Amino acid sequence: MRVPPRSAALACLLAVSGMAATAAAGPVEVAERVRDWRMAHEQQLVDRFAALLSIPNVARDRAHIRRNAEHIGDLLEAAGMEVRLLEVADANPAVFAQRLVPGAARTVMIYIHYDGQPVNPADWASEPWTPVLRTDSVENGGREVPMQGPFDPEWRIFARSAGDDKAPIIALQGALQALAWAGLEPTVNLKVFLDGEEEAGSPNLRRVLETHAEALAADLWLFCDGPMHQSRRPQLVYGVRGSYGLNLTVYGANRPLHSGHYGNWAPNPILLLSELLLSMRDSSGQVLIEGFYDQVRGLSAAEQAAVDASPRMDDLLKLELGIAQPETGDRIEQAILRPGLNLRGISSGGVGAASRNAIHPHATASIGLRLVPDQTPAQLSAVLERHVRAQGFHILSAEPTPAERVRYPRLARLDWSGSGGYPAYRAPFDHPLARQVSALLNELADGTLIQTPTMGGSLPIYIVDEVLATPVLILPVANHDNNQHGANENLRLQNLWDAIETYAAVLTGL
Ligand SMILES: [Zn+2]
Repeated sequence: MRVPPRSAALACLLAVSGMAATAAAGPVEVAERVRDWRMAHEQQLVDRFAALLSIPNVARDRAHIRRNAEHIGDLLEAAGMEVRLLEVADANPAVFAQRLVPGAARTVMIYIHYDGQPVNPADWASEPWTPVLRTDSVENGGREVPMQGPFDPEWRIFARSAGDDKAPIIALQGALQALAWAGLEPTVNLKVFLDGEEEAGSPNLRRVLETHAEALAADLWLFCDGPMHQSRRPQLVYGVRGSYGLNLTVYGANRPLHSGHYGNWAPNPILLLSELLLSMRDSSGQVLIEGFYDQVRGLSAAEQAAVDASPRMDDLLKLELGIAQPETGDRIEQAILRPGLNLRGISSGGVGAASRNAIHPHATASIGLRLVPDQTPAQLSAVLERHVRAQGFHILSAEPTPAERVRYPRLARLDWSGSGGYPAYRAPFDHPLARQVSALLNELADGTLIQTPTMGGSLPIYIVDEVLATPVLILPVANHDNNQHGANENLRLQNLWDAIETYAAVLTGL
């Protein structure tokens, strides 16, 4: 493959730091040497993390977003990377950094996002962009402590994006600096791509990838986002589910009717909708729509074995979530490998103080679909529409006209417009680079690595696959209870320390 020439700035930096060619150190040895650096620099790491977390980062806050991008660029430059901002019109900048290693055969791209979810400060125990350190989670009564070492690794730093997704930035910078300090040279070309619009749905990601495809070429993308396994064991994830959804509205009379004068005669949309929904999915989660599972890609023997080998969390989760009996008898890891039809909300009439003795003229359900590999939004919308039609409904794409109301006994409007659906993604377990990464991480984790074919949640990873034809793996580093997207988002310090070692091992082991 193409190895671009080393930049003058980088050559100078390497000369100054006196890096020698790496004698092949295994991942455990690399981790130990990097740990020595980390233990001597914990205060600096916490201070840096706090400074980065102090910059507000909601995607629509363009001024602060740019400050984040520039601040992150400085951090990566200080770790010996060449940095530039990738711009396309009307989009937040993506930060691109690279560090090319002479003679390296492979290029690894690390994906991180630097924007965060909007906040509601009233829900937070402290200001979302004023980082604080606590001894534990807020729910567990963690008390605030000064941001001064020595640090207990169970302490957590609280701020928006502490877990999702600024921790990898500090960990990666730390890993590069620790490797330099230890005289260990990365064995791969490293590239970093920082999305500034992930929490806004990455609306411009395809354009950015297409515009800058050459710079973004790599042999593997590692998505460093999302929570780790609930068991706190290291985890490598091979894919994500896709996402799609619709609002489904059924209609009765053209105005609310007195339930005494018209009940038993006029159609009741709440009942019509309930029957329609029950025809789509049973109480075990099985979707009853003909053709819904037609395109589902099955699991390979290795993928199924990995699911079977992962620690069982069901009993703990039942306790934590107050559930006596899950919908299915399958363990959760198995259940989330199937496509899902979820009822997100339902709306019609009123209850409690808002209830009236009336027949409401319409009823709407919001339905969310989770797709698995080989299903497409187009295929699922087609089978769902066919199913609704088979239940005797005439399908509408807008509000019914008076003529339609008197012509068709059953009317259903399917509105897919708010969803922006996208397909799932799953990298094969037997991809040579995936095998290497998993073997390396498993060695680092002393044989305890959890391999997960597909996480339950959704990310638009398929865009990287489609535009760049590059395999993607997901390497999460945040504690599972980091409250991502919610109030009191946090990162457990041990997760930051572990991430530094993980990145250092990956950069010197492929
Ligand atoms: Zn994220």
